[in-house]
Parts: sequence; structure tokens; C-alpha cells
Amino acid sequence: VAKRLEGKTIVITGASSGIGRSTAFEFARTSPKSLKLVLTARRAETLRQVADDIVKEVGDGVKVLPVKLDVSNPEEIRGFVAGLPEEFRDIDVLVNNAGLVKGVARAPEIAEADMNVMFATNVTGLINMTQAVLAVFLKRPDGGRGDIINVGSIAGREPYPGGGIYCATKAAVRSFTESLRKELVASRVRVLEIDPGQVETEFSVVRFYGDKSKADAVYAGCEPLTPDDIAEVVVFVAGRRENVVVADTLVFPNHQA
Ligand code: NDP
Repeated sequence: VAKRLEGKTIVITGASSGIGRSTAFEFARTSPKSLKLVLTARRAETLRQVADDIVKEVGDGVKVLPVKLDVSNPEEIRGFVAGLPEEFRDIDVLVNNAGLVKGVARAPEIAEADMNVMFATNVTGLINMTQAVLAVFLKRPDGGRGDIINVGSIAGREPYPGGGIYCATKAAVRSFTESLRKELVASRVRVLEIDPGQVETEFSVVRFYGDKSKADAVYAGCEPLTPDDIAEVVVFVAGRRENVVVADTLVFPNHQA
């Protein structure tokens, strides 16, 4: 796997915490000699810290570039690739991981602002990032090459009461991923989706608007996955031989029904 990833440029959205942060570490640990990592999220200072921590752990064979980027802002995405230093522009892998859930509300109580931020981040943001990076992939002389790895959710397959909007956004990710994979079968672009079950991250803290006790209650009495568990799967699928597409992966903690 280290050999297959050698020299690649990998963009990860939502790399400031949770699954995205762990995925950045996992790529760096797996191929510590010549990887280029572009880490993006809104919290610039946290991202810079993640970048520093990676270099501290694996050494400076891996080049890490933190880039402040709000995926819900189409303007920022439009300028994203052109704004990278030239040595980071030849992107090989995009991990579309940035995402969030805001609130738990049954249909009559859904707040418009929450609905808009979830769609703008989880759906429109992911699609806009895909378009931006796909332009790099498809410009390659060999008919297009690169990997798009989308982080969906079990919520996209099994909607639950109170989660209508979040579940709908993840179902949209699923449809988009599958449609794109089919559009690109003639190219060497791989389009993959990984759907986690319960993973303990800041996700629930965000969901409950920062209320840590409510967030902790989500994981009471059960053992969720760690972000590293998902990161290992991301690196596994990216590290397959080019003709192998691990197209659709559901990753659960053992107890989750
Ligand atoms: P975290 O809250 O720890 O991480 C979410 C990341 O997304 C953060 O780095 C955050 O960074 C970033 N982000 C949020 N909004 C934006 C935005 N507008 N622009 C750019 N970055 C943004 O949660 P997870 O690691 O758990 O979540 C990662 C993905 O995994 C999400 O897509 C989530 O839906 C999915 N998932 C999570 C599950 C879980 O149980 N935790 C289960 C199934 C799927 P910042 O705030 O700095 O912008």
C-alpha cells in the first residue's frame, strides 16, 4: 500500500477533527516518504496544529498543507485548486469527509437554518468539491485518473425519526456517488463511498449545538468506533490496485444493529 500511495497528493475535507483528522494521520503513517496532504476545514488554527502534529510524528517526508476552506461556500471552492501552491495542484485523491448534523427535530420543528447548513455542507459542498477536483482528474492525458472517496453514513440507508434532513443529505450523497461512478466507468477515475455507523467524534457535540452532556449520552452504554477505525478503511480502499474499486462500504461497531 505504501508503494501504491507513494508520491500522491491527497485532499481531505473536514480534516480538523474526527474522521478527517485521523485519515490524514493514517495516510501519513502508511506512506511517510513522499506524500502530499492538503488538509482543509474552517478552523484554520486547529488545522495548522493537525499539520504540525503529523510532521512531528512521521517526519517531513510528508508535505502537509493546511488550507482554510468552507465547503458550503461555492466561491471558496471555485478558487481552491488554482489557489494551491503548484506542487500541490496535481491532486490524486479527494476524500469528501466534511459534514455535520445540526439538531434532532421531527418534520414540523425543523429549523430552516439547520436544514440549509446541512444541505449546503453535506450535499452541495461535496458536489462542488468533486467538480473542482474532477476537473484536475479529467485533464490528465490518459482519459482521466484519480480517486473520489465520499464519506456517507448509515443514515443515508436507514432514516430515523428526528433525523430527516441529515438522513436525506446522506441519501443524496449515496445517489450522487453511484451516479458519478457509472458516469466515469470508462475512465480510470474511481468513485467510492464509505458509510460509517456510530463513531465517537465531535459530531454529536456539533449536533447538540455544543452541549457535551447530550453528546456523551449518544454513546452511553455502547462502544462506538474510533475515527481511526474509519481512517484505516479509507486508506485501505485508496491503496488498492488501480483496477479494484471497493465501491460501497458499511462500517459498524460490532454491537450496532
Ligand atoms: P467531526 O465533527 O469531528 O468532523 C467534521 C469535520 O467537518 C470537521 O473537521 C469540521 O471542521 C468539518 N466541517 C464541517 N462543516 C464544514 C464546512 N462547512 N466546511 C469545511 N469543513 C467543515 O465529525 P466526524 O469526524 O464524525 O464527521 C466526519 C464525517 O463522517 C461527516 O461527513 C459525518 O456526516 C460522517 N459520519 C459520522 C458519523 C459519526 O458517528 N461520527 C457516522 C456516520 C457518518 P471545521 O469545523 O473546522 O470546519
